[in-house]
Amino acid sequence: MDNTNTYTISKFQAARQCKCPRCRTGEMFTGSLLSLKGQKMSKYCPHCGLKFEMEPGFFYVSMFVSYALNVAQFIAVCIATYVLSSKSESPWLYLTACCFVAIALAGFNFRYSRVIQLYWLTPNLSFNPKYYGDQYKKDIKIEA
Ligand SMILES: [Zn+2]
Repeated sequence: MDNTNTYTISKFQAARQCKCPRCRTGEMFTGSLLSLKGQKMSKYCPHCGLKFEMEPGFFYVSMFVSYALNVAQFIAVCIATYVLSSKSESPWLYLTACCFVAIALAGFNFRYSRVIQLYWLTPNLSFNPKYYGDQYKKDIKIEA
């Protein structure tokens, strides 16, 4: 009996760490979340070889997810601005706060919109424990 892969990380934990949705081991993105050089997503999972962009235009959907994330952030920022500025009515204050947040969280939104799409909005893609952990990598060669 094989007991090497009995522990796996949870779906939410793997999504938070931007791991590949199939193996929950390989990193989906190269570079840091806070990188100023721009965000870069790997074409294939470095661990199991899953092609992230399954078809041309696949990440078009993540644009809508990103939009939803932005709207949620804008609402939160406007409420926070309203409370912190003691009920200011200047639209420029709210606009400036929203612009600042949109720029500051651009990398976060880019990453997590794609993560949300791959984890929760792609029906034919799910975790396969066979690919999880270090045991798998010894047996295969990733074609890229
Ligand atoms: Zn993978």
